[in-house]
Amino acid sequence: MPHPAVTRPGGSGNRLLAALLPPDFALLAPELEPVALDQDAILARAGDEVEHVFFPHSGAISLMIDMANGQTVATAAIGCEGGVGILSALGPSPSAITAIVHAAGTASRIPASRFRAAFNRSPALRHALQAHLSAMLTQFQLGAACNALHPVQVRMARWLLHLSDHIDHDVLPLTQEALSQILGVRRTTVTPLMRNLRASGAIRSDRRGQIEIDRSRLAAVACECHETMRLKVDGSASTNTARSRFLAVGDDERVSLGALVARSGKDPVTAHPTSVGK
Ligand SMILES: [Zn+2]
Repeated sequence: MPHPAVTRPGGSGNRLLAALLPPDFALLAPELEPVALDQDAILARAGDEVEHVFFPHSGAISLMIDMANGQTVATAAIGCEGGVGILSALGPSPSAITAIVHAAGTASRIPASRFRAAFNRSPALRHALQAHLSAMLTQFQLGAACNALHPVQVRMARWLLHLSDHIDHDVLPLTQEALSQILGVRRTTVTPLMRNLRASGAIRSDRRGQIEIDRSRLAAVACECHETMRLKVDGSASTNTARSRFLAVGDDERVSLGALVARSGKDPVTAHPTSVGK
């Protein structure tokens, strides 16, 4: 049975981990722990030292900047294509962001110190992270431009699309309060914008923190930044996968992922995942 952290056809998994060849994955596997990502759980808090690195299998996490006056704004969304806390590979340091689960899911997590040790031993792991960080940097840069140049209405549509990219249905478990924190605007600003999106058909309903979207209509409203960012993220994941295939050794030389799981003694993520607190 493949390690639950690795993508399986038709199943969940983390694409960053799945792109690693078995010898590199083996550096992480014994320490990977399955966890549930509960709605609104905080995986990292700005100012606190990063304790764990999370590799989502499903769900969506927003990276938030907390300003001194209490305002917040989201800078990026991460799902199964990446990881949360991976900059801790460079050395122990306080987190610059607060990472909040905005669509529940599952993940594998590893202590930051163990991740750092593997990072220092594996050029392939470093390469995979570089490609992912390059895509993240594009998100940050485009996000800064978008925040400065594009109206909040189209930014709202962009964020709803970002988050929906990481779930397999059209209902986002988001309150208007959460949306206001993501967009860095007042709650009272969100209400008329939601009304506009409902009138256009881009949002079918918005009740009790459940926003049902129409993806194609929402895409028509959103700025081009969503598609540009999505292509960059998908491109980095494909680059990692292609590199792994290029470097792949013969089947008889491969380390069995099932054997790695057996050695790690970890249960599949669906068995009894630890719940991450809020
Ligand atoms: Zn934009």
